[in-house]
Amino acid sequence: MNEVTTADSSSHSARLCAACGMCCDGVLFHSVNLQKGDSPRHLASLGMKLRRNKGVEFFLQPCSMHSDSHSSCTCAIYDQRPMRCRLFNCKQLLAVDSRVATEAAAMEKIRDARKRVAEINEQINQLGESNLNRSLAHRVAHALTLQKGEERTPLHDRLDGAMIELEEVLDKEFRLSS
Ligand code: SF4
Ligand code: SF4
Repeated sequence: MNEVTTADSSSHSARLCAACGMCCDGVLFHSVNLQKGDSPRHLASLGMKLRRNKGVEFFLQPCSMHSDSHSSCTCAIYDQRPMRCRLFNCKQLLAVDSRVATEAAAMEKIRDARKRVAEINEQINQLGESNLNRSLAHRVAHALTLQKGEERTPLHDRLDGAMIELEEVLDKEFRLSS
């Protein structure tokens, strides 16, 4: 969802975001509100699935415009993406922009987070949760909900622990404090 500003930042942002996609695919966020300046009608005409609650238009994550093939993330409406997507720079992009971190260090953080996400997805699948249209946190919560008569297993404990650790990583390394 990042905004690119200079030729240099555009190249490192493009590489990092292509390898990441976590602010579009339901790992970092559940939903994204449209902002002043966004045209819901235009975005809907581009194929975005918008919702409305108490006068606020928003879309759910994973975003329907996001794709991740061969480990390269893309946005189908990049040049016309919503305002929030343009303005969002995660902590890793900000750190590289301000030269607090190198691109290689940021890429390593992205790889580590994505590895954690992949492991969590494997555990979710083993627990029978297969709805890919929900955010990762919702999928984990669903996978951890015991059905009547079902007992909690070591796999539930591992998933619970892995998700707590992932959320700590996402808060520390990617999300901005509100
Ligand atoms: S979380 Fe950061 S690096 Fe990842 S896609 Fe979003 S802006 Fe790019
Ligand atoms: S519109 Fe594009 S940039 Fe915004 S969340 Fe969806 S895929 Fe990401």
